[in-house]
Amino acid sequence: MSHASEDLLATHQVRKTKIRLEVLDFFLSKNYALSHAEIENAISESHDRVTIYRTLKSFEEQGLIHKVLDDSGTSKYALCASNCISHRHNDAHVHFNCEKCGHTFCLEEVAIPSIQLPSDYQLIGYSFLVQGICKDCSK
Ligand SMILES: [Zn+2]
Ligand SMILES: [Zn+2]
Ligand SMILES: [Zn+2]
Repeated sequence: MSHASEDLLATHQVRKTKIRLEVLDFFLSKNYALSHAEIENAISESHDRVTIYRTLKSFEEQGLIHKVLDDSGTSKYALCASNCISHRHNDAHVHFNCEKCGHTFCLEEVAIPSIQLPSDYQLIGYSFLVQGICKDCSK
């Protein structure tokens, strides 16, 4: 178990459990968004799917991870930057889908331009997905 995971849980006031540390360690070991299946496969068999699902749900509520849709419409999860807190996310950045490795990356440094909707439309959320070749695959 890494100290980084323990610190993150403490910062977001999430009670420390074995599965939460395991899931968070897995997120910290990757620099791209993870699908439900990838997380399930990586986490030890002693945990069932429901427990993993609940862990992801509570992480999302506590501002630790955010949902990312990839180009196939699969939900993935990515670690939030430090400016997300419980029940208040600030993830208005571009997501990048690599056509070679298939991974989806958070480009925190690329902000989504502000969206002006017609006055009779109400904004709830948005996602901004860019396709291309990531820096590892273009080497
Ligand atoms: Zn967030
Ligand atoms: Zn790639
Ligand atoms: Zn993101």
